[in-house]
Amino acid sequence: MIYLKQERWVGFPWFRPVAGRRKVRNRFVTASAVGLAGVLGWFGVLRAQAPSPGQASADALPVEVDRGAAGLSRWLRALQTRASLLMVTAHPDDEDGGMLAYETRGAGARAVLLTLNRGEGGQNAMSPDLYDALGLVRTEELLAADRYYGVEQFWTRAIDYGFSKTREEALEKWSRERVLSDLVRVIRMTRPLVVTSVFIGAATDGHGNHQVAGEMAQEAFQAAGDPSQFPEQVREGLRPWSPLKVYARVPSFAVTPKGMYDYATDKYVPVRFYDYVSKTWSDQKPATNVKVPEGEYSPAAGLTFLQIGRLGLGFQKSQNGGIGLPAPAPFTSEYHRYGSRVPAASREDTFFDGIDVSLAGIGSLAAPEPDFLKRGLQAVASLVDRAARTYAPHHPSSIAPLLAEGLSYQRRADVCHRDSRPVFPRGRESTQPRIRGCRHRTRITRFLRWQTLADHNRGRAPQECGGAPRAQGAVRRGGAG
Ligand SMILES: [Zn+2]
Repeated sequence: MIYLKQERWVGFPWFRPVAGRRKVRNRFVTASAVGLAGVLGWFGVLRAQAPSPGQASADALPVEVDRGAAGLSRWLRALQTRASLLMVTAHPDDEDGGMLAYETRGAGARAVLLTLNRGEGGQNAMSPDLYDALGLVRTEELLAADRYYGVEQFWTRAIDYGFSKTREEALEKWSRERVLSDLVRVIRMTRPLVVTSVFIGAATDGHGNHQVAGEMAQEAFQAAGDPSQFPEQVREGLRPWSPLKVYARVPSFAVTPKGMYDYATDKYVPVRFYDYVSKTWSDQKPATNVKVPEGEYSPAAGLTFLQIGRLGLGFQKSQNGGIGLPAPAPFTSEYHRYGSRVPAASREDTFFDGIDVSLAGIGSLAAPEPDFLKRGLQAVASLVDRAARTYAPHHPSSIAPLLAEGLSYQRRADVCHRDSRPVFPRGRESTQPRIRGCRHRTRITRFLRWQTLADHNRGRAPQECGGAPRAQGAVRRGGAG
């Protein structure tokens, strides 16, 4: 069973799904704080969904780096891109939080963290809780950290049974098919452009669980777009999805005359690495293709992205988290590219080099691209760009008219094959691009849904109005998000 705890919004902040009500309210609070509440008026619905007085919870407010001007700056940036990535790790606290914070808060990307298990087989530096109880503790710790990373969280069915010396041992406990199936399912559900991992599937990862996480990230990159792989998921309604690139963090290790040290087995092993995408061996250290500048300073947040990530990691106190915040300083995290479905240089500036991550790029997924989609996306992108360029923290309401117009466009970008009649923004029939719409109950209100519309199977006419299908068996837990 795959669990999703944290409901995260992935599209325009002014369009929220019915689920994730607390998030909706949180973003709405932010908008209100900057004087946009009156403009984004459709939120009468959202106010009705807000928790009633007395339902206060620990996360009733966004984390500090999401409040006020900092929060609005982040979401304006997020509106300008469709960049998305998924990171695969084994346990809570394995993640590269600085990289995730950089991509979500710096680059505006939508990010998903897929952690194979809850870390219930680990140690506990804070309390006597172990095994399942520790898994609950670490689940909550990771969710708290995720709010700083800015990610959506998934787990697989794999259970942490304790320290594992080898990849083979972990696969024997879990079974390759079971873990790979869950990874493929999450990729098909979240449709990331890029897959990353902290691990590479070799002895340098140490723990056998880590090695499996590294291997499976690459294997799932290959398998998720193949409809013959786990066809039961396709029958459930998930569509194949091929991420465009896959990366893993470059390991650091020392080469000695005896080879490189494997701390899991306390032995020296040959310096050999396997590429699970190209299915080739190498005796060379994986090259660096991308350096993520986690040490960059976020003026809006007043912290570096590494610091933001460490704030999140600090919530994982059962694992000796909460270590001191590093001083602002240059810091990069290096990643090796294991596969790409687009032309890519050996040295790249970002994970998304060579990928059209603009809003208009969503339409390129459809062939032929529907004209209404192309023009609608361009219109929204233009408005978002203007809003981002003119936003001033001391006068935030100045961008309210632009956001309101964007809201109007987004509403009219509802698409349904059952009704092809064009609709127009009220009062703008003669000046604004025409966007087809429908009067039916289903609406395209999220990027994921737009991507579903622009079907990954090129050449297939858009025909769904209901958005991305929800996989059977996947459980979305409510509550804090
Ligand atoms: Zn770990």
